[in-house]
Amino acid sequence: MKFAIRSRGDQSSNGLKMKMKNYLQEFDLIWDEEEPDIVITVGGDGTLLYAFHRYKHRLDKTAFVGIHTGHLGFYADWLPEEAEKLVIELAKTPYQIAEYPLLETIIRHIDGGKEVVYLALNESTVKTVDGSLVIDVEIKGERFETFRGDGLCISTPSGSTAYNKALGGAIIHPSLESIQIAEMASINNRVFRTIGSPLILPKHHTCMLKPKEATDLKITIDHKTIVHKDVKSIQCRVANEKIRFARFRPFPFWKRVRDSFVAETWES
Ligand code: NAD
Repeated sequence: MKFAIRSRGDQSSNGLKMKMKNYLQEFDLIWDEEEPDIVITVGGDGTLLYAFHRYKHRLDKTAFVGIHTGHLGFYADWLPEEAEKLVIELAKTPYQIAEYPLLETIIRHIDGGKEVVYLALNESTVKTVDGSLVIDVEIKGERFETFRGDGLCISTPSGSTAYNKALGGAIIHPSLESIQIAEMASINNRVFRTIGSPLILPKHHTCMLKPKEATDLKITIDHKTIVHKDVKSIQCRVANEKIRFARFRPFPFWKRVRDSFVAETWES
C-alpha cells in the first residue's frame, strides 16, 4: 500500500510525521506523495482540508485519516499517542471506509468563458469585496428570494459543525446527502425580506445564486479565498464525488459533536 503524510508544519507535527513515516516503511508500506492509497494528516482539521485539496483529483483512489496535535478535530480525530496503534491498523489492511458528501460550486462569468468548478469539504461562502451582497437565490430553477446582507454560507454535512455552526446553522449528519444555506447578517425590514432560517437542500436540488449587479465577489472554498470579477451565477449542489475516510474504530459523529462542543473535558 502506498501512503503519504501531510504535516501542519510545526515542530511536534513534523516530528510525528517522520516517526510514522519510518514506522510505516518498516511495515513495508511505500511512501508515495503523488499517488497514495492513504493520506495521513498530522495537525488539525485545517491540515486535513489542505490534504483534501491536494488530492481531490483522485478521491476514488485515496482515503484520509487525521491525527490531531492540537485540540480534537472533526476530521483529525486520532491522538498523537495512538500513532503506533494507527500504523499497525494501517499495515493490517483492508480497512473500513466512511464516505462523506462534498459541495460542488460552479462559477460562471458575465463575459462567458470557461466555468470554474470547485469542490469543498466544509463550505463555500459568498461575500462582496465592498458593501452588501445583493443576490437572487434560486432553488430548483425557481426564484426563492433576494438576499441582502453580509453573505451566504453553503456547507456540506461534515462542514455543518464549522463556519455554518457559527452562523446558527443546523448540524447535519454526514449520512444525509445534502447542502445547507446559512445567512450572514441579512438585512430584514419593511422593505427587504429573506427567509431568515438556514435551508437544507437534498441531493437533487440545485441552488443558483445570481448577483443583482456586476460586482467583485469574494468566494471562499474551505480555507481558500478567491476574488471573482463579473460573476453571472454561482451554482451549488451536492457533488457526485465523495471524500473517503479510513475507519479503524467506531467514533460516531454525534459523539464527536458532543466531545467537541458540549463535554467539559474530552480527554479524561
Ligand atoms: P482556522 O485555523 O481559522 O480554524 C478554524 C477552526 O475550525 C479550527 O478550530 C478547526 O478545527 C475548525 N474546523 C474546521 N473544520 C471543521 C469542521 N468540519 N467541524 C468543526 N470544526 C471545524 O482555519 P482552518 O483550520 O484553515 O479551517 C478553515 C475553516 O475555518 C473553514 O472551512 C471554515 O469552516 C472555518 N471558519 C470558521 C469561521 C467561524 O466559525 N466564524 C469563520 C471562518 C472560517
